[in-house]
Amino acid sequence: MARRFSGPSDLHLHSDHSDGTEPPADVVASAHAAGLRTIALTDHDTTSGWAEAAESTGSLGMTFLPGMELSARHEWRSVHVLAYLFDPDATELRALIDRIRSSRLTRAREMAERIGRDLDLTWDDVLGQTATGATVGRPHLADALVAKGHVRDRGEAFAGILSPGSDYYVALYAPDPVTAVAAVTEAGGVPIIAHPAGRAGLLPGPVVEGMLAAGLAGFELGHRENREPGLGELRELVRRRDLIVTGSSDYHGLGKPNLPGEHTTSDEMVARIIDRGTGSAPVFA
Ligand code: AMP
Ligand code: FE
Ligand code: FE
Ligand code: ZN
Repeated sequence: MARRFSGPSDLHLHSDHSDGTEPPADVVASAHAAGLRTIALTDHDTTSGWAEAAESTGSLGMTFLPGMELSARHEWRSVHVLAYLFDPDATELRALIDRIRSSRLTRAREMAERIGRDLDLTWDDVLGQTATGATVGRPHLADALVAKGHVRDRGEAFAGILSPGSDYYVALYAPDPVTAVAAVTEAGGVPIIAHPAGRAGLLPGPVVEGMLAAGLAGFELGHRENREPGLGELRELVRRRDLIVTGSSDYHGLGKPNLPGEHTTSDEMVARIIDRGTGSAPVFA
């Protein structure tokens, strides 16, 4: 068993390589200040923050797990697949990531254009809120709307202008959850469904079974968005099938109220993830 790390562990953190507001080094420093000793960086659809994060965890005596939150979609609901210890160069996963990222760009431009017909907002305003090379998303549109004084914060933007029911909304391409889980598995990674019991409720049973057959390792049961009764059902499922259970903050810097370490993952579960991942290696302290 891999035991060369120590807790507490938070395996779901975002930097400005996607929709967090801090560079990876600052995310690591925030996590360290919160008392965490093992972390994973899980930016949406990118691995570009790994090197900086690993350098920072190294200098602070922490353990780093390479991770990502891969976008997927079942019908109209978005599904987030946390992926750990995968090979970032694996062909199929690489192709999925490239397609998602290119769709994210087209989609964000289209949304900015639609909004710009009614409000003072340009694509340049959105780019001004997006770190170079970052995975662009609605949070960056939200930040541009805040900067222009159209809304108070990201929450208000998501509740109105950027909501799926809005005329400004454009969907992004995302693979179905089974395809996403299979690609992570194929890349030697450990796929875990993020915030699986959120407001939209649980995914249908057949989709869950399909994901498990494709290599799904477990569920992020410790997350502020999970709620009953779905959470109870998943607790029962993970117990019956002996799946991995994680708990994490989903920290986004100032982009969300979530704080590092507000949920954590047990040493036993971190060890199971490390034992199962074969596509890339943890960076031990
Ligand atoms: P997108 O993937 O571009 O459609 O945007 C979804 C992202 O927006 C998710 O990764 C969330 O982290 C973020 N998000 C969703 N709702 C909110 C909210 N109310 N406040 C801040 N961020 C949010
Ligand atoms: Fe996010
Ligand atoms: Fe998510
Ligand atoms: Zn997340």
